[in-house]
Amino acid sequence: MGLITRLAEWREDRRLSDLQVTEEDWYQALGDWPVYQRFSLPTRARLHEMALRLLLRKVMVGAGGLELSDQMRLRIAGMAVVPVLELGLEWYDGWQTLVIYADAFVAEHEWVDEYGVAHAESSALCGEAASRGPVVLSLEDIVRTDGATAHNVVLHELAHTLDMRHEGANGAPPLHPGMDPAAWKQDLFSAWEDLERRVAAGRPSPVDEYALEAPAEFFAVLTETFFERPEVLLEAWPAVFRHLCDFYRQDPCRA
Ligand SMILES: [Zn+2]
Repeated sequence: MGLITRLAEWREDRRLSDLQVTEEDWYQALGDWPVYQRFSLPTRARLHEMALRLLLRKVMVGAGGLELSDQMRLRIAGMAVVPVLELGLEWYDGWQTLVIYADAFVAEHEWVDEYGVAHAESSALCGEAASRGPVVLSLEDIVRTDGATAHNVVLHELAHTLDMRHEGANGAPPLHPGMDPAAWKQDLFSAWEDLERRVAAGRPSPVDEYALEAPAEFFAVLTETFFERPEVLLEAWPAVFRHLCDFYRQDPCRA
Protein backbone atom coordinates (compact mmCIF):
# COMPACT_ATOMS: atom_id res chain seq x y z
CA MET A 1 0.00 0.00 0.00
CA GLY A 2 1.43 3.38 -1.00
CA LEU A 3 2.11 6.22 1.39
CA ILE A 4 -0.66 8.39 -0.05
CA THR A 5 -3.22 5.61 0.42
CA ARG A 6 -2.04 5.04 3.99
CA LEU A 7 -2.25 8.76 4.72
CA ALA A 8 -5.76 8.99 3.27
CA GLU A 9 -6.85 6.02 5.39
CA TRP A 10 -5.32 7.51 8.51
CA ARG A 11 -7.17 10.79 7.86
CA GLU A 12 -10.41 8.91 7.28
CA ASP A 13 -9.98 6.96 10.53
CA ARG A 14 -9.42 10.23 12.39
CA ARG A 15 -12.52 11.80 10.88
CA LEU A 16 -14.49 8.62 11.54
CA SER A 17 -13.68 8.72 15.25
CA ASP A 18 -14.79 12.38 15.34
CA LEU A 19 -18.27 11.51 14.11
CA GLN A 20 -20.67 11.16 17.00
CA VAL A 21 -23.29 8.75 15.75
CA THR A 22 -25.04 6.74 18.45
CA GLU A 23 -26.83 3.40 18.28
CA GLU A 24 -30.04 5.36 18.78
CA ASP A 25 -29.26 7.50 15.70
CA TRP A 26 -28.83 4.32 13.65
CA TYR A 27 -32.03 2.88 14.97
CA GLN A 28 -33.92 6.04 14.07
CA ALA A 29 -32.44 5.96 10.57
CA LEU A 30 -32.79 2.27 9.70
CA GLY A 31 -34.72 0.49 12.46
CA ASP A 32 -37.89 0.20 10.37
CA TRP A 33 -36.10 -1.43 7.41
CA PRO A 34 -36.62 -5.23 7.36
CA VAL A 35 -33.27 -5.82 5.63
CA TYR A 36 -31.48 -4.04 8.50
CA GLN A 37 -33.53 -5.86 11.13
CA ARG A 38 -32.32 -9.18 9.71
CA PHE A 39 -28.63 -8.42 10.28
CA SER A 40 -26.91 -9.61 13.45
CA LEU A 41 -25.51 -6.98 15.82
CA PRO A 42 -21.88 -7.50 14.65
CA THR A 43 -23.00 -7.19 11.01
CA ARG A 44 -24.91 -4.01 11.84
CA ALA A 45 -21.77 -2.59 13.46
CA ARG A 46 -19.82 -3.26 10.24
CA LEU A 47 -22.63 -1.73 8.20
CA HIS A 48 -22.55 1.41 10.39
CA GLU A 49 -18.82 1.87 9.94
CA MET A 50 -18.97 1.28 6.21
CA ALA A 51 -21.88 3.72 5.83
CA LEU A 52 -19.94 6.43 7.67
CA ARG A 53 -16.89 5.81 5.47
CA LEU A 54 -19.19 6.13 2.44
CA LEU A 55 -20.42 9.49 3.77
CA LEU A 56 -16.81 10.63 4.25
CA ARG A 57 -15.69 9.52 0.78
CA LYS A 58 -18.67 10.52 -1.34
CA VAL A 59 -20.71 13.65 -1.78
CA MET A 60 -24.41 13.39 -0.98
CA VAL A 61 -26.42 16.40 -2.09
CA GLY A 62 -30.08 17.33 -2.11
CA ALA A 63 -31.26 18.76 -5.44
CA GLY A 64 -33.93 21.38 -6.07
CA GLY A 65 -33.51 22.96 -2.65
CA LEU A 66 -33.96 19.70 -0.77
CA GLU A 67 -32.34 19.78 2.69
CA LEU A 68 -31.17 16.35 3.81
CA SER A 69 -31.38 15.65 7.53
CA ASP A 70 -28.60 13.68 9.23
CA GLN A 71 -31.11 10.90 9.78
CA MET A 72 -31.84 10.72 6.06
CA ARG A 73 -28.12 10.74 5.22
CA LEU A 74 -27.59 7.81 7.56
CA ARG A 75 -30.57 5.97 6.08
CA ILE A 76 -29.41 6.38 2.50
CA ALA A 77 -25.78 5.52 3.29
CA GLY A 78 -26.86 2.51 5.37
CA MET A 79 -28.95 1.15 2.51
CA ALA A 80 -26.28 1.96 -0.05
CA VAL A 81 -23.57 -0.17 1.58
CA VAL A 82 -25.66 -3.34 1.88
CA PRO A 83 -24.72 -4.65 -1.61
CA VAL A 84 -20.99 -4.14 -0.94
CA LEU A 85 -20.98 -5.22 2.70
CA GLU A 86 -18.90 -8.30 1.84
CA LEU A 87 -17.23 -6.86 -1.27
CA GLY A 88 -15.73 -3.63 0.04
CA LEU A 89 -16.41 0.06 -0.57
CA GLU A 90 -13.87 0.14 -3.39
CA TRP A 91 -16.57 -1.45 -5.54
CA TYR A 92 -18.12 2.05 -5.54
CA ASP A 93 -14.94 3.74 -6.74
CA GLY A 94 -16.57 4.46 -10.12
CA TRP A 95 -18.82 7.24 -8.79
CA GLN A 96 -18.44 10.15 -6.41
CA THR A 97 -21.82 11.79 -5.94
CA LEU A 98 -25.28 10.80 -4.79
CA VAL A 99 -27.92 13.33 -5.80
CA ILE A 100 -31.21 13.15 -3.94
CA TYR A 101 -34.39 14.67 -5.31
CA ALA A 102 -37.49 15.35 -3.23
CA ASP A 103 -39.74 13.61 -5.71
CA ALA A 104 -39.61 11.46 -8.83
CA PHE A 105 -37.60 13.59 -11.21
CA VAL A 106 -37.49 14.08 -14.93
CA ALA A 107 -34.38 12.73 -16.58
CA GLU A 108 -33.34 14.13 -19.93
CA HIS A 109 -31.70 11.54 -22.09
CA GLU A 110 -29.93 12.10 -25.33
CA TRP A 111 -28.50 9.32 -27.34
CA VAL A 112 -27.36 8.56 -30.86
CA ASP A 113 -28.84 5.45 -32.42
CA GLU A 114 -27.14 2.94 -34.68
CA TYR A 115 -28.00 5.07 -37.73
CA GLY A 116 -26.31 8.14 -36.24
CA VAL A 117 -29.59 9.94 -35.48
CA ALA A 118 -29.70 11.89 -32.21
CA HIS A 119 -32.72 11.40 -29.96
CA ALA A 120 -33.88 13.19 -26.83
CA GLU A 121 -36.27 11.69 -24.34
CA SER A 122 -37.55 12.78 -20.98
CA SER A 123 -39.26 10.44 -18.61
CA ALA A 124 -40.21 10.43 -14.96
CA LEU A 125 -37.86 8.19 -13.04
CA CYS A 126 -37.21 7.42 -9.43
CA GLY A 127 -33.54 6.68 -9.82
CA GLU A 128 -30.77 6.75 -12.31
CA ALA A 129 -27.16 5.65 -12.47
CA ALA A 130 -24.94 6.64 -15.36
CA SER A 131 -21.48 5.33 -16.03
CA ARG A 132 -19.06 7.43 -13.91
CA GLY A 133 -21.79 10.03 -13.40
CA PRO A 134 -23.68 10.79 -10.20
CA VAL A 135 -26.14 8.29 -8.79
CA VAL A 136 -29.54 9.99 -8.66
CA LEU A 137 -32.28 8.94 -6.25
CA SER A 138 -35.73 10.10 -5.26
CA LEU A 139 -36.28 10.73 -1.56
CA GLU A 140 -39.91 9.74 -1.87
CA ASP A 141 -38.88 6.23 -2.88
CA ILE A 142 -36.28 6.01 -0.13
CA VAL A 143 -38.77 6.87 2.60
CA ARG A 144 -41.34 4.49 1.17
CA THR A 145 -39.01 1.51 1.47
CA ASP A 146 -40.95 -0.18 4.25
CA GLY A 147 -40.94 -3.88 3.39
CA ALA A 148 -44.44 -3.72 1.91
CA THR A 149 -42.92 -4.37 -1.51
CA ALA A 150 -39.53 -5.52 -2.73
CA HIS A 151 -38.97 -2.11 -4.30
CA ASN A 152 -35.85 -0.29 -3.14
CA VAL A 153 -34.48 2.49 -5.32
CA VAL A 154 -31.17 2.68 -3.43
CA LEU A 155 -30.37 -1.01 -3.93
CA HIS A 156 -31.58 -0.76 -7.54
CA GLU A 157 -29.37 2.16 -8.58
CA LEU A 158 -26.30 0.89 -6.76
CA ALA A 159 -26.73 -2.50 -8.43
CA HIS A 160 -26.49 -0.62 -11.74
CA THR A 161 -23.16 0.89 -10.67
CA LEU A 162 -21.81 -2.61 -9.90
CA ASP A 163 -23.09 -3.89 -13.26
CA MET A 164 -21.34 -1.00 -15.04
CA ARG A 165 -17.97 -2.07 -13.68
CA HIS A 166 -17.86 -4.76 -16.34
CA GLU A 167 -18.53 -4.07 -20.04
CA GLY A 168 -21.19 -1.43 -19.34
CA ALA A 169 -24.72 -1.97 -18.06
CA ASN A 170 -25.52 -5.41 -19.48
CA GLY A 171 -26.85 -7.31 -16.47
CA ALA A 172 -23.50 -8.92 -15.69
CA PRO A 173 -21.27 -7.37 -13.02
CA PRO A 174 -17.65 -8.54 -12.81
CA LEU A 175 -17.94 -12.06 -11.41
CA HIS A 176 -15.47 -13.38 -8.83
CA PRO A 177 -12.87 -16.03 -9.57
CA GLY A 178 -14.54 -19.43 -9.43
CA MET A 179 -17.90 -18.10 -10.63
CA ASP A 180 -18.98 -19.42 -14.01
CA PRO A 181 -20.07 -16.61 -16.38
CA ALA A 182 -21.77 -19.08 -18.75
CA ALA A 183 -23.89 -20.54 -15.93
CA TRP A 184 -24.74 -17.03 -14.71
CA LYS A 185 -25.88 -16.03 -18.19
CA GLN A 186 -27.85 -19.20 -18.77
CA ASP A 187 -29.66 -19.21 -15.41
CA LEU A 188 -30.51 -15.51 -15.58
CA PHE A 189 -31.77 -15.97 -19.12
CA SER A 190 -33.99 -18.90 -18.04
CA ALA A 191 -35.43 -16.72 -15.28
CA TRP A 192 -35.97 -13.90 -17.78
CA GLU A 193 -37.92 -16.28 -20.05
CA ASP A 194 -39.93 -17.55 -17.10
CA LEU A 195 -40.80 -13.97 -16.14
CA GLU A 196 -41.86 -13.24 -19.74
CA ARG A 197 -44.16 -16.28 -19.71
CA ARG A 198 -45.65 -15.34 -16.35
CA VAL A 199 -46.30 -11.75 -17.43
CA ALA A 200 -47.83 -12.88 -20.74
CA ALA A 201 -50.11 -15.34 -18.91
CA GLY A 202 -51.04 -12.80 -16.25
CA ARG A 203 -49.59 -15.05 -13.52
CA PRO A 204 -47.94 -13.66 -10.36
CA SER A 205 -44.27 -12.76 -10.79
CA PRO A 206 -41.50 -13.12 -8.21
CA VAL A 207 -40.03 -9.77 -9.28
CA ASP A 208 -41.38 -6.53 -10.73
CA GLU A 209 -41.98 -6.95 -14.46
CA TYR A 210 -40.04 -3.72 -15.02
CA ALA A 211 -37.10 -6.14 -14.96
CA LEU A 212 -37.90 -7.06 -18.58
CA GLU A 213 -36.99 -3.55 -19.82
CA ALA A 214 -33.37 -4.61 -20.35
CA PRO A 215 -30.80 -7.09 -18.97
CA ALA A 216 -29.39 -4.27 -16.80
CA GLU A 217 -32.84 -3.66 -15.28
CA PHE A 218 -33.23 -7.39 -14.74
CA PHE A 219 -30.06 -7.49 -12.62
CA ALA A 220 -31.04 -4.34 -10.69
CA VAL A 221 -34.56 -5.64 -9.94
CA LEU A 222 -33.18 -9.07 -9.00
CA THR A 223 -30.86 -7.31 -6.54
CA GLU A 224 -33.78 -5.47 -4.93
CA THR A 225 -35.71 -8.72 -4.49
CA PHE A 226 -32.60 -10.62 -3.37
CA PHE A 227 -32.19 -8.32 -0.38
CA GLU A 228 -35.80 -7.28 0.27
CA ARG A 229 -37.61 -10.58 -0.41
CA PRO A 230 -34.91 -13.26 -0.54
CA GLU A 231 -37.26 -16.15 0.19
CA VAL A 232 -39.39 -15.23 -2.85
CA LEU A 233 -36.38 -15.29 -5.15
CA LEU A 234 -35.02 -18.52 -3.65
CA GLU A 235 -38.34 -20.23 -4.18
CA ALA A 236 -38.90 -19.00 -7.74
CA TRP A 237 -35.39 -19.18 -9.21
CA PRO A 238 -33.02 -21.03 -6.85
CA ALA A 239 -30.11 -21.07 -9.34
CA VAL A 240 -30.32 -17.29 -9.76
CA PHE A 241 -30.54 -16.88 -6.00
CA ARG A 242 -27.32 -18.91 -5.59
CA HIS A 243 -25.51 -16.82 -8.22
CA LEU A 244 -26.46 -13.66 -6.34
CA CYS A 245 -25.29 -15.22 -3.04
CA ASP A 246 -21.96 -15.96 -4.73
CA PHE A 247 -21.68 -12.51 -6.23
CA TYR A 248 -22.72 -10.50 -3.15
CA ARG A 249 -21.05 -13.03 -0.82
CA GLN A 250 -24.17 -12.89 1.34
CA ASP A 251 -27.07 -15.27 1.88
CA PRO A 252 -30.00 -13.10 3.01
CA CYS A 253 -32.04 -16.22 3.77
CA ARG A 254 -29.49 -17.16 6.45
CA ALA A 255 -28.54 -13.73 7.78
ZN1 LIG B 1 -32.81 0.76 -13.40
